[in-house]
Amino acid sequence: MDITYGLGDSLYLNLTNRCTNQCEFCVRQYKDGIAGYNLRLDKEPTVKEVIAEIENPEDYEEIVFCGYGEPLIRLEAVIEIADWLQKFDVAVRINTNGQANLIHQRNIVPELKGLIDTISISLNAKNAKKYKQLCNPEFGLDTFPAILDFIEECKGIIPNVVLSVVKYPTTSIYECRKIAENLGVEFKVRQYSQSDTKEDN
Ligand code: SF4
Repeated sequence: MDITYGLGDSLYLNLTNRCTNQCEFCVRQYKDGIAGYNLRLDKEPTVKEVIAEIENPEDYEEIVFCGYGEPLIRLEAVIEIADWLQKFDVAVRINTNGQANLIHQRNIVPELKGLIDTISISLNAKNAKKYKQLCNPEFGLDTFPAILDFIEECKGIIPNVVLSVVKYPTTSIYECRKIAENLGVEFKVRQYSQSDTKEDN
């Protein structure tokens, strides 16, 4: 099992396979990993194990909390590792489904202050109903508005806030772009490919 995986100039950290969604397009439904890595975890790695695997963060342009699951389920581990990364000259990003405040039942965004350079939040739908159909979230119809609130909370605390969508047949790129514009955050479209897509890689 691989708890870190390099893609391009970035190193991705695979802290958990757990997720509060079951997205139709998630590669976890079809494959054990991507780019030759086995991302199915027998057990979730400890902070110490992750740090040992990273070795020298400055070998990379960016360290990305991603997972083969939702990294902010392991909030404490993310904070501890991100805190350690502050000693190095490397950018830090989290790719998330934006549900951390629902998961932890409090606003966790202030806890990330000063630790994260970029947060990339996947939306993938223009409204709560479409989101529920596409992503099958544990929190049902409450999820979509909670993600929008989460994005608002991130603004002003995390320097770069990105709303991302997968170019999937049922996703309205136009409507999602408008949501990003209204929220005043960057917008990113990712290509969908059943062979290697986990939307938040
Ligand atoms: S695509 Fe991301 S948010 Fe969706 S089920 Fe997979 S890991 Fe979870």
